[in-house]
Amino acid sequence: MDAFPTLVHKNPLMKLNRCVLGKHESHNWRILSGHCKHNPFACRILAVQTSGLHSTATEEVRLEMKASSHDSISGDFSWPSPNDEIPFWKKDFPSWNVSTENPVDIEKDSDLMHIIHVTAEMAPIAKVGGLGDVVTGLARACLSRGHKVDIMLPFYECIHMQQINGLTLTATYNSYHGGIWVPTNAYQGIVSGIPVIFIEPINHFFKGQSIYGGSYNELEAYLFFSRACLEWMQVTGTQPDIINVHEWQTGALPLLYWDMYHSLSIKKPRLLLTIHNLEHYGECSKDELSKCGLDGTLYATIEKAVDDRTIGHNPERLSLLKGGIVYSNAVVTVSPTYLEETLRSGWLTSTLLRNRYKYHGILNGIDTVMWNPATDVILPFNFHAQELDGKKLCKQYVQRGLGLAPEGCQISNNSNRVPLVVCISRLVAQKGLHLIIHAIKHVQEQGGQIVVLGKAPDGRVEREFEGLADLHNQGATVRILLMYSEELSHLLYAAADMVLIPSIYEPCGLSQMIGMRYGAVCL
Ligand code: ADP
Repeated sequence: MDAFPTLVHKNPLMKLNRCVLGKHESHNWRILSGHCKHNPFACRILAVQTSGLHSTATEEVRLEMKASSHDSISGDFSWPSPNDEIPFWKKDFPSWNVSTENPVDIEKDSDLMHIIHVTAEMAPIAKVGGLGDVVTGLARACLSRGHKVDIMLPFYECIHMQQINGLTLTATYNSYHGGIWVPTNAYQGIVSGIPVIFIEPINHFFKGQSIYGGSYNELEAYLFFSRACLEWMQVTGTQPDIINVHEWQTGALPLLYWDMYHSLSIKKPRLLLTIHNLEHYGECSKDELSKCGLDGTLYATIEKAVDDRTIGHNPERLSLLKGGIVYSNAVVTVSPTYLEETLRSGWLTSTLLRNRYKYHGILNGIDTVMWNPATDVILPFNFHAQELDGKKLCKQYVQRGLGLAPEGCQISNNSNRVPLVVCISRLVAQKGLHLIIHAIKHVQEQGGQIVVLGKAPDGRVEREFEGLADLHNQGATVRILLMYSEELSHLLYAAADMVLIPSIYEPCGLSQMIGMRYGAVCL
């Protein structure tokens, strides 16, 4: 194929990037590779510009071929319907090797390090909220700047196994918990281009159908996990430069490191704690802390880990997050504004003020490769800021799939002009539940459509939203979907005219960044 634009013009389904139809239109092109994605008109072609007789590539351009207007949708494309046996967000999406999408021109850092994240969440295999997104995005950003990065994660029973590549059992060892040594497996695999170490104790921890809220004692399970990660480093002789722990779940790890493992064989690492949300302190009794092998009574001081809210109570309690702050070499929170807020009020303010010299606020961002409407494999139609027809089609796709759009509506008629508001959120008080409920009513009154995708960890909240779902979900304007679905969240951001985020407070918030990336106005 030496005249690439000819191919383009022959094929009515193709719509190419501006750079081809504009500046490079007259040049010759050679197709290096082309493959179909999950729908008949979403293909990608890697083309090389050739000059004259010389076929030496002078420039590589990634081109997209896609249906980008209603006219070009082929007859065999099937629109989803609420009556489909498999809902449109549960169908098989193509696997996507996100690491091949990374920009190649990222400057490498000069001072390269080995960083291990120890975390309770990781997107997309074990995500509940922003913690999972940030851990994955941060790891990928550091990898692309040349660092060696690993993530350590509990091997939850509910983990999305199909997104792990090359999963292999690499070590079996014992880790201490509550007076016994628990046989533990360490598996390694690759997720979104990141090496991940999965820790699996041979007991009941991390079993169940959700990341949090299983029938085991969560505090004990994360205490076990914190120690099992250090134990793994010790048995495998792994000495990273930085161990980055996240949230209260891994707050005990810095205590275990400095008071136990550092005097055994792990000497090199320095500890970084990232606080994503100060709402959860990791409340813990001295006895509970002792289960991981530390003497809990030694930490019940103001300078160490006593939970300031319980001072004078009988018994006083500990806070794993506070212990993590005190025992880490540096503490980062997810925005400079949240840093200021947390230094002004809250139960941990005095601890943070005492440790102000090592406390930093760094603004979160989203991974713009993983969240990219121009390449997102979950979307039936891709789009970008200069080419928005795909977004209109995504909206119609979602409307039809959820039964919101009138039967037989076309892109050109008014049904597409009904604003679609989406709210994708953990359904917890922080997120402004009463405002979400108010918005459902308000959007209806204003003649719009609203879709709420959320999961409520609290049974009472769940029942309240179930009641709303029963009331509204048969109508044509409101859908309340009480579940977690990464795939549906992508489809909803793509379909949305507006993204609703009525949070009471927000340490940083990623939903508004994703909403803007997918061309929606954030409220
Ligand atoms: P938080 O970390 O407080 O949950 P953020 O706005 O920082 O809030 O991040 C929330 C992330 O979780 C976003 O990626 C959002 O799309 C996702 N999310 C929240 N609830 C759901 C859900 N029910 N299904 C899919 N994704 C969800």
